[in-house]
Amino acid sequence: MDRTLAERTKYFDNAATTFPKPEVVYKAMDEFYRNYGVNAGRSSYKLARKATDLIDETRELLAEMVSFNKTERIIFTPSATIAMNQIISGLEWDEDKTVYITPFEHNAIIRPLRYIEKKYNIKIKTMPFNSLTFELDIDRLKKDFEKDSPNYLFMSHVSNVTGFILPIDEIITCADKYNSVTVLDCAQSMGLIPISLQKLKVDYLVFAGHKTLYGPFGIAGYIDNSKIGLKEFIIGGTGSDSLNYFMPESYPSKYEAASQNICAIAGLNASLKWIKEIGIDNIRDKELKLTKQLVGGLEDIYGVAMYMPKDIIKHVGIVSCNLDDYKPEDLGMILDEDYGIAVRTGYHCAADIHSFLGTKHRGGTVRLSLGYFNEESDVDYLIENLKQL
Ligand code: PMP
Repeated sequence: MDRTLAERTKYFDNAATTFPKPEVVYKAMDEFYRNYGVNAGRSSYKLARKATDLIDETRELLAEMVSFNKTERIIFTPSATIAMNQIISGLEWDEDKTVYITPFEHNAIIRPLRYIEKKYNIKIKTMPFNSLTFELDIDRLKKDFEKDSPNYLFMSHVSNVTGFILPIDEIITCADKYNSVTVLDCAQSMGLIPISLQKLKVDYLVFAGHKTLYGPFGIAGYIDNSKIGLKEFIIGGTGSDSLNYFMPESYPSKYEAASQNICAIAGLNASLKWIKEIGIDNIRDKELKLTKQLVGGLEDIYGVAMYMPKDIIKHVGIVSCNLDDYKPEDLGMILDEDYGIAVRTGYHCAADIHSFLGTKHRGGTVRLSLGYFNEESDVDYLIENLKQL
């Protein structure tokens, strides 16, 4: 029997979305629509209550993952980009505001902030990282903060281009005395790198269901650990307080207008239980082992440039590289057409990182990204075929 395209593909694009998903995710989504696929939070009959319970339980699982105890402050959105827009649009802006970002940000942060900059003439400053060692220049950052004190910090926990784990503790500590608001983009880290909101002073933590949480598309959100309270951004029906012309003041309703993607939440619910069963540390260990194998293999190939810090422990399984004079897009096409290897090439929706890495002129990078379902034999296959080029 012919193997499917997915079976014939060696998938190294887990930073775009993890694939495949754990079997339980497919099962939970199928079961949702077959057995209780009704709307939640609107009616009180038993089926509707079952759907509502599923959503509540999913908030609890997310809260538990990051040691957070206010489950009602977990706000669901259809994607991490929408979560980020919801936060940015909900904050107060005027021309006196100074925002700090890092060179590693995704356009889900950069574009809404540049939009705000155009509208309100805010100041956006980039934190100083060394482009060879990836080290944060903490003394310079302190001086920058003294000169232009931060109102808002926006940073990725893990870079979607280089896999670098940012020193968020150091940055947050450094900003502590300024009373700034911290927004942490955990699209590439939650479920893979342990995070505790008991230990880390983060105001808004953004997550993406379909990436390191191994859930489906269509479900993401943010955890609101802030005292400030955002302005609502999307306005409409919430299933509650229906005679009110305005949004209810209670969490999560104030920030969750419209019907939820409950099928996607069912998938996320299953993936969160799967992560809990396997253990974040075991997922991380497996990925780290594969990353070491991948990096070791790439180091042996003449003409490979890798864009990463030396210390592999500061890394997840996302490795950006270039080979000889190949344009990234050409190399990606060869890998796909000739070897059935799926990678992402180009700029990876991150506008600033390529000036930092010096990869702008050559069309970005080839990004190889691993997931829990990659095996050593996949990495061997990739390295062997890269050697042939
Ligand atoms: N932040 C980071 C770090 C990402 O990698 C991504 C997706 N590439 C996003 C935000 C946006 O996620 P989504 O496309 O699911 O909205």
